[in-house]
Amino acid sequence: MLSLTLYLDRTQWLKHLRHMEELYPDYVPVIKGNGYGFGSVRLAQEAWEAGKDKIAAGTIEEARQLIKLHNFTEILILTPVVTELRAADFTKFIFTIGSLGQLHHLLQSAQKLNYSLPIMIVFKCESTMRRYGLSPQDLALANTLVSTAPISIQIEGYALHFALERLTDRDKLSEIDAWLKTFEELGLNQTKLYISHLTPTVLQQASLKHPTTTFVMRLGTSLWLGDTSTYSFRTNVLDVKPIKFGERFGYKQKTAWRDGYLIYVSGGTANGIGMESPSHAKGLMARLKLTLFWLLSLCNFNLSPFTYKGHKLWFAEPPHMQASILKVPKKISPPFPGEELIIKNLRMTIAKFDEIVELEPQTSCN
Ligand SMILES: *Cc1c(COP(=O)(O)O)cnc(C)c1O
Repeated sequence: MLSLTLYLDRTQWLKHLRHMEELYPDYVPVIKGNGYGFGSVRLAQEAWEAGKDKIAAGTIEEARQLIKLHNFTEILILTPVVTELRAADFTKFIFTIGSLGQLHHLLQSAQKLNYSLPIMIVFKCESTMRRYGLSPQDLALANTLVSTAPISIQIEGYALHFALERLTDRDKLSEIDAWLKTFEELGLNQTKLYISHLTPTVLQQASLKHPTTTFVMRLGTSLWLGDTSTYSFRTNVLDVKPIKFGERFGYKQKTAWRDGYLIYVSGGTANGIGMESPSHAKGLMARLKLTLFWLLSLCNFNLSPFTYKGHKLWFAEPPHMQASILKVPKKISPPFPGEELIIKNLRMTIAKFDEIVELEPQTSCN
């Protein structure tokens, strides 16, 4: 069966991973969600082979799956856990604590399970993200709670998550400075600060300024998807049907807009095709573009990520679960069944491929 395929130049892709190790020594690879399009199983394998025995997962459910794959020594869980815990969860997982309630939940769970070994936590500090995170006051309370708890708690470190936009390097540095000062004032002898979204230069500046602190980068997008030249996507044409103006077709039994061809290709909603997350319009041009696409969609014109002869093709109707129907006007000679079409702008954080094909070294990807 022909399918939606990710072509990976693994040699070059691994080279990028090694390059990131140079830029961000001892970084923690983030393996979450759909595994950034590659699948979490593959990413866990690659991380393991690259010598990474400490990784970060998005949720506890993900961590439970990842720990089965390889003998990771630690898995940092990025999302606070407020669901029921099992004793096994406490042995290798580091829990992110972003509120006092989350700390209470963890302590109560450990007590209920009669867990007696130290449990590992990371205190997540409030940042300009305004996501879960402890304020300095809450951090003081949380610290008291830790030192008086009937359970042994090991503070593995602290975490700061920076916004992607509207924050200069200087802002980030002063946020780091401020928190490190707070730790000192609270008498917390912290040594490890987990951070994300910092350039190597800023990381270096922070490390030089605070030599007793170990800064640990959590890398996701820039690690796995950082070198876009190392992967590309294609689909296969399943069938080509000529259609005449006014003839009906598809699930929706729409009428054809003009003479041409219906192109059936692999890849549908189950693969993340045609799915979109709400976008963030920035600037007039972006707004105009969104308005234009919105107006077109009202007339059932939806642009697909599939291309043919360098042009993006329109969906003939909404994508099906595992296939899509595209339209090609009569004046263009249509592709043939089995032909591969290039896919552009596929959102890797929602994509799910039928197959991943590794390119032989020296083979060009695009
Ligand atoms: C997802 C996540 C990361 C990695 O984010 P990318 O933007 O994919 O690099 C880092 N830190 C935290 C807390 C995260 O949740």
